[in-house]
Amino acid sequence: MKEISTKIKEIASRLLADGQVNVFLAWEKGPEDHLTHPLAARSAEDAQKIVFDEYSIHNLSNYLLKFRDGHEKIGLVVKGCDSRGIIRLLEDNQFTRDRLYIVGVCCPGMKDPLKAMKINSGLLQDIALDDKADKCSNCAYPNPVIYDELLGSEQQPHVSGERKAQVEEIENMSPDQRYGFFQETFSKCIRCYACRQACVACNCRTCIFDEMRPQWVGRENNETDNLMYHLVRAYHMAGRCVECGECERVCPVDIPLMLINSKLAKDVNEFFGPYEAGIKYEQDGKPALSVYSLEDSDEGFI
Ligand code: SF4
Ligand code: SF4
Ligand code: SF4
Repeated sequence: MKEISTKIKEIASRLLADGQVNVFLAWEKGPEDHLTHPLAARSAEDAQKIVFDEYSIHNLSNYLLKFRDGHEKIGLVVKGCDSRGIIRLLEDNQFTRDRLYIVGVCCPGMKDPLKAMKINSGLLQDIALDDKADKCSNCAYPNPVIYDELLGSEQQPHVSGERKAQVEEIENMSPDQRYGFFQETFSKCIRCYACRQACVACNCRTCIFDEMRPQWVGRENNETDNLMYHLVRAYHMAGRCVECGECERVCPVDIPLMLINSKLAKDVNEFFGPYEAGIKYEQDGKPALSVYSLEDSDEGFI
């Protein structure tokens, strides 16, 4: 990874010095070994802080939203999951391709900084520090799907059958059992909205959950409002979620959001596919549920 860090620094310095980009998004080292932060470099000097290591886990495509207004050109580093996020933003008309210079890195998998912190402080036992983050144990696209330059050697998908089995287990429940499962799961939600903030697909300028007039969803932590939050979120993600796993990674109470996202992706693929969100960039491409076809399924969805 050291070699990749050096190459990214060289590319970022060149682009910033030549004025090809105004900002370059990458990562820098934080105060602890397990803390690697996103960095917005604005000069070749800033670019010297860039690192790419096993904790460069944040999906940088989400940080592009801070620059969507205006005309600045942005360079950034993307792993496989981040690159799918770029396609999400291009399809959602949040960015135009000509404003981006994309440096792709074939990703060997990252470690979870939160887990590392808990292990270091003794809060978590029975987990090895060198284990991959959960999202990286279920990654079908470790290699960037869109880029201007590509670094690193091609990686094999890292997909465990565990999540598929969990989705099937929920599908096989009776409606009452399933309702009970989700009721219990979402009762833990503290409505911190970290999952929304970390999500590249949550890119509406005014979020329904922030609106006060009318207030569509109450702000209390109770069964109805929590279920409503997760139901609306699921509908907004159907056919749009790029399965980057960031929502689940940042959830402070370990709600298994990727189970729901996987079920949504599975159903959209079966009913309206073949389709996987954010794996191929096409000019004017749209998510599966944003287009209508006479052949679309009329069968039950979700
Ligand atoms: S989800 Fe895939 S591409 Fe993203 S950090 Fe993990 S292994 Fe890398
Ligand atoms: S991050 Fe977790 S606790 Fe926070 S709103 Fe999302 S699901 Fe709820
Ligand atoms: S819902 Fe979760 S997995 Fe899907 S794009 Fe958003 S953060 Fe990534």
